Amino acid sequence: METILSIKNLHKKYKYVHAVNNVSFDIQKGNVYGILGPNGSGKSTTLGIVLNVVNKTSGDFEWFSGKLTTSEALKKVGAIIERPNFYPYMTAVQNLQLVCKIKGIGFEKVDEKLALVGLLERKDSHFRTFSLGMKQRLAIASALLNDPEILILDEPTNGLDPQGIHQIRDIIKVIAAKGTTILLASHLLDEVEKVCSHVVVLQKGIILYSGRVDAMSSGEGFLEIDSADRKALKSALSDHPGIGNITEEDGKITAVLTQAVGASDINRYLFEKGITVSHLVKRKTSLEEQFLNLTEKSKK
Ligand code: ADP
Ligand code: MG
Repeated sequence: METILSIKNLHKKYKYVHAVNNVSFDIQKGNVYGILGPNGSGKSTTLGIVLNVVNKTSGDFEWFSGKLTTSEALKKVGAIIERPNFYPYMTAVQNLQLVCKIKGIGFEKVDEKLALVGLLERKDSHFRTFSLGMKQRLAIASALLNDPEILILDEPTNGLDPQGIHQIRDIIKVIAAKGTTILLASHLLDEVEKVCSHVVVLQKGIILYSGRVDAMSSGEGFLEIDSADRKALKSALSDHPGIGNITEEDGKITAVLTQAVGASDINRYLFEKGITVSHLVKRKTSLEEQFLNLTEKSKK
């Protein structure tokens, strides 16, 4: 595995806010990473630090295993961290050619990248006539002109209508399928679920979860269970090796499974202990529930 970016114990303190608090994670080539967290959780600050536009307070980050200086490494990074800004009275193609000149690269990729983001037919339209979604797509084309190793996007679908959101997500998937590593920040759970393979969940600058998106939602699940004798039920459940946390809420008991145990196994186990259940359902936790659990827990 090739490590594109490695972040270790990163901290950023503003005057009153600990915006990034001991954040560590690695980005491996070919994966799509989401930094997921509510507004103000430190996503943009983290991206700003690794892109050298925000100064870190402490900790380290290293691009491409430290083989290049940060400024050399950043030439292999395509990033959009602000609202797309191009010259309004220049066409799409003229704007991209200007970017090529600034980056010191030839014009040969311009049409290819316009096609990738679905703007080839509009290449001769002025930037000012573009919708926000088209502007965002042009920014993606621009960031890809030098075929970067990694594309970094901060809230790529903010402010777009549903169709615009859909188009951007499809483009991200196409870029990822071509092998470009992607790191995107989003406060939208379903965005991360739809486009990312890996996720770092941030809350107030602290990592609550970091790992595969599918692993986050594929815990063993939990049981919703009830019986006339709740006390006996809870005590029997807590003796079972495959059951973790047991909570009683809204008149029902929830037991988190720590092993792959079926509802019928539990039913038999309880019956043998003389407990008859009046309600028993096994459920998997969705990513959304996991996310809410994580963020709720950390508030306490
Ligand atoms: P996100 O991108 O997840 O919404 P940010 O990284 O923008 O979060 O902000 C994280 C925290 O740091 C917030 O509390 C924000 O108010 C604070 N913050 C961000 N930039 C500055 C700054 N330049 N000066 C002071 N506080 C800042
Ligand atoms: Mg932000």
